[in-house]
Amino acid sequence: MPLCVYLCYTPGCQAKLERWMPTAAEGEQAKMDCPRCGSVMTCAWTGSQVKTPNLKDAQPPPVKPSR
Ligand SMILES: [Zn+2]
Repeated sequence: MPLCVYLCYTPGCQAKLERWMPTAAEGEQAKMDCPRCGSVMTCAWTGSQVKTPNLKDAQPPPVKPSR
């Protein structure tokens, strides 16, 4: 079950809502009303999309000599 994140892009509101959805596609198509201002929120992230990178897996850029 992916955790979907919805954001309200109304200036001055910018509420964030997290909701567990049965499927990512369902979460993406769901229309959430902003609890604060009532406008439709945008699905910003569904849990089944690309995994968030793990910092310890990231390779640091090679250090180049200054000359
Ligand atoms: Zn709002």
